[in-house]
Amino acid sequence: MPDKLEDIAPFDLVVFGGTGDLAHRKLLPALYHREQDNLIPEGARIIAVSRRPFSDEQYRDWARENLKEHLSEPCDHILERFLNRICYVSVNVRENLGWQDLSAKLAGFENRTRAFYLSVSPDFFGPICAALGEHNLVTENCRVTIEKPIGKSGTTARLLNETIGAVFKEDQIFRIDHYLGKETVQNLMALRFANVLFEPLWNAAHIDHIQISVAETLGVEGRGGYYDTAGAMRDMVQNHLLQLLCLVAMEPPESMAADSVRDEKLKVLKALKPLDPASVETNTVRGQYRSGASSEGGAVKSYLDDLGAKSSQTETFVAAKLEIANWRWAGVPFYMRTGKRLAKRVSEIVIQFRQLPHSIFPATAGQLASNKLVIRLQPDEGVKMQVMIKAPGPGNMRLKEVPLDMSFAEAFQVRNPDAYERLLGDIIRGNQTLFMRRDEVEAAWNWVDPILEQWASDPRPPRGYTAGTWGPSSSIALIERDGRTWHDDENECC
Ligand code: NAD
Repeated sequence: MPDKLEDIAPFDLVVFGGTGDLAHRKLLPALYHREQDNLIPEGARIIAVSRRPFSDEQYRDWARENLKEHLSEPCDHILERFLNRICYVSVNVRENLGWQDLSAKLAGFENRTRAFYLSVSPDFFGPICAALGEHNLVTENCRVTIEKPIGKSGTTARLLNETIGAVFKEDQIFRIDHYLGKETVQNLMALRFANVLFEPLWNAAHIDHIQISVAETLGVEGRGGYYDTAGAMRDMVQNHLLQLLCLVAMEPPESMAADSVRDEKLKVLKALKPLDPASVETNTVRGQYRSGASSEGGAVKSYLDDLGAKSSQTETFVAAKLEIANWRWAGVPFYMRTGKRLAKRVSEIVIQFRQLPHSIFPATAGQLASNKLVIRLQPDEGVKMQVMIKAPGPGNMRLKEVPLDMSFAEAFQVRNPDAYERLLGDIIRGNQTLFMRRDEVEAAWNWVDPILEQWASDPRPPRGYTAGTWGPSSSIALIERDGRTWHDDENECC
């Protein structure tokens, strides 16, 4: 059911890191769109918190400029109505200053939904939660949202979860993975569980393998400092790619209730076959981009030059072959790859069905390609099913592979909301279905940790790949040695 204004009571949304990159690129534009869609009730407040000594007016001026840059055609009166809800409080978390000002701002509003959004460095997650507790700012109807990365390992994630858990109850903690807010990702659940067509085929008897690719053309841009401490495994695989894998592979949940969905995702993570040191070598590839060409053709620098460093062991590319040890998926490989400075910006999930058991067509009809379902997350969200049909015209039967294509932009003539719009709405309404539970995060680390440990003990650097390509050649070999290939739309016949 679409959101309705009358279902939403006035709330206070407190955005720590209100002057940061995520706030100005994603959170403020998403909130503006909620305002535009008339989904922010009268009296609701957005309280931006950061270090800078802004007044309310100075912050609004800053936000106005940024919003104009990030919104295609903002409407002046909606923009002003939106900005008028925003106020600003200066808090320096490191110096432990400004908490009284925040307390004063929130005083008298204890009965409304109070949502803290921590859009700051993860080093501050613990100190902010502790300070919110000490200053009695945690109310009954309160919640906290934290951004990735949640820890750098299972151990640090558990510590962080404990620190936050000392102040907030699990049903108040919203661990955001913005991939889960993408329309197509939710459509994956609709496709599987709102149609009778796919579920009977969704298993090892009918599916040959599954691919999950999240490819970026950008390098590390201005985020090299953070990225070099994380790498593609922590930045992308531990959260986004494993979450996508869960939604593809999970059993039908009892309902869309948060814990029903999260219980099923957890079972998938627990069933992931762990990789021992020898299988890390054969089933994973880590790479780092060298200089090359961008997708537009201009020259681009290497990762080390982007970083301004002489050496780094950090991977900007990961490919891996995973197995889910359960009845549904036994023997079905899941291939994943993600990286920066790759040939094309594309995120997609490919379900490759098995070959027909027997063909009744003569060899002259052409080769029978097995069915393939391609779920595209970006750039243009949609679902495409590759099927065989008879090529039109008289004469002998000739078979041809064509896509049954549904682009969401064409199917629905509506603006495609950004994931953050949906997720911010869910935070206010207290719906945790699309947020990660503590045990999920920790189970994902259980699979990732041994790989990171093995890589860390390996003195060889990540394999180099030329910027603008599909990663190291060994990632192609990873799938081709099994007699399969990475899906590439440009190689499809139609
Ligand atoms: P950023 O460095 O651009 O912004 C950090 C914010 O924290 C700024 O508003 C800064 O003023 C504030 N800050 C810094 N020191 C402070 C202090 N001592 N006291 C109070 N405030 C202080 O970071 P970002 O890119 O916006 O990322 C924020 C969070 O979101 C991080 O956890 C990051 O990992 C996560 N994230 C960011 C992106 C992205 O695209 N930027 C994507 C996914 C997740």
